[in-house]
Amino acid sequence: MRVRKGDTVVVISGNDRGKMGKVLKVELDSGRIIVEGIHFIKRHTKPSQRSQKGGIVEKEAPIKASNVLVYCPKCDKGVRVGKKALQDGRRVRFCRRCGEMFT
Ligand SMILES: [Zn+2]
Repeated sequence: MRVRKGDTVVVISGNDRGKMGKVLKVELDSGRIIVEGIHFIKRHTKPSQRSQKGGIVEKEAPIKASNVLVYCPKCDKGVRVGKKALQDGRRVRFCRRCGEMFT
């Protein structure tokens, strides 16, 4: 999985194509991620003791990690990222387009 929690990503397919958001959660098992403000679904909730009133709640639903690209500020677009090891052994991700490193 090339996407990490906290990354800014660009959606490349589906209804939210072209939108950007921050990765809130990565589900490694299913290969899905939750992105802030992307792919809202409406959930009908019944009144319960926990939440006083029922109704419709809009909530982000997971999308496939393969539907997004990591946003590169330098390229100002979603890009593919590579991984490499620095001389001190740290592994970093970088933009395959311009070479910018992501922390
Ligand atoms: Zn770049």
